Amino acid sequence: MISHVSKTWFKKKILNWYLAHGRHDLPWKRPITPYRVWVSEIMLQQTQVSTVIPYFEKFIRAFPDVYQLADASIDSVLHHWAGLGYYARGRNLHKSAKLIVKEFAGEVPNTLETLLDLPGIGLSTAGAILAQAFNTKATICDGNVKRVLARFHRLQGPLGQKAVEDALWQMAHYYTPTKQVADYTQAIMDIGATICTRVKPLCAHCPVQSHCQAYQQDKPENFPQRTKSKKLPLHLKWVGCLLNSKQEILLEKRPTQGIWGGLWSLPEFTSEQALDCFISSLGKKTSKSQELLPLKHSFTHFRLLLHPTLYHFKSAFLFKNPNFRWVSAQGLATLGLPTPIQKIVNYDIIVKKMRKL
Ligand code: SF4
Repeated sequence: MISHVSKTWFKKKILNWYLAHGRHDLPWKRPITPYRVWVSEIMLQQTQVSTVIPYFEKFIRAFPDVYQLADASIDSVLHHWAGLGYYARGRNLHKSAKLIVKEFAGEVPNTLETLLDLPGIGLSTAGAILAQAFNTKATICDGNVKRVLARFHRLQGPLGQKAVEDALWQMAHYYTPTKQVADYTQAIMDIGATICTRVKPLCAHCPVQSHCQAYQQDKPENFPQRTKSKKLPLHLKWVGCLLNSKQEILLEKRPTQGIWGGLWSLPEFTSEQALDCFISSLGKKTSKSQELLPLKHSFTHFRLLLHPTLYHFKSAFLFKNPNFRWVSAQGLATLGLPTPIQKIVNYDIIVKKMRKL
């Protein structure tokens, strides 16, 4: 790759900045172990450091090593993941922990090939684990790094296009040093996250500003270029908030594949009629149903509008289907519920009924 600056210049600028301003106190670095780095890197996929920190600390308290994570139930793992989103990451972490115990004697693998064999680990995450945990030369090219490099080189073409992605990986590989890899990779990720931000980058504080082509010749925010985003489709769902006479709420375990896979949620239907049919099929007496405030939630590929309806049954009856479970207020605190569903369950009216207030 041809660059307008030397590797040495770039590396020096980045490492000097890290020494003075880098985030040296991240919780996964105190102490740094391959297990803690691996957990943090999975959590950091598509998620900001400030969001991850409290989840990481809670997760590590519950599962301090790979053996305890492998032995835990998936419900417990997802409970500790709840709120962090992209739940497939939690399921994959759990699957990987079992593999690491079974096939790698409890040691997080230290080669690119073996890391890539673990579920949920792509090239950039594998690179970050190798660099951070083992200080081995490995390339990372996550969203933050791509932004810095695309601006530094004023790279033409939208993210996602093969030629653009290939060019960004080449740049990332070119600049990654063979020594001080952990510091360099942490530094460039930190610069992307805190200086070269998506909007209003703090170029005045940037160590590579003097040779940044987007800063010198253009508007940094114009890079990386993006394909015009289409309006996300809106999906409508109806959810039943069913309470029984013991003040328990009905939850349904979602299939392991798809949105919120493996999490406990409220029974969900594609139409109001389908929800009505489900309630009638139970053949149990309930007080008048009550529509609750709809709730919006956005995913990467679509928006969701949930219409919750509350039913209070006059009895406590059982379901044969093990995917349905009545859960008390105390039980709710031990299960992983998706954030929007947790918000509905936290509606005042439901909380009061479950606590008999
Ligand atoms: S000068 Fe500005 S745009 Fe260029 S890399 Fe630094 S922060 Fe990003």
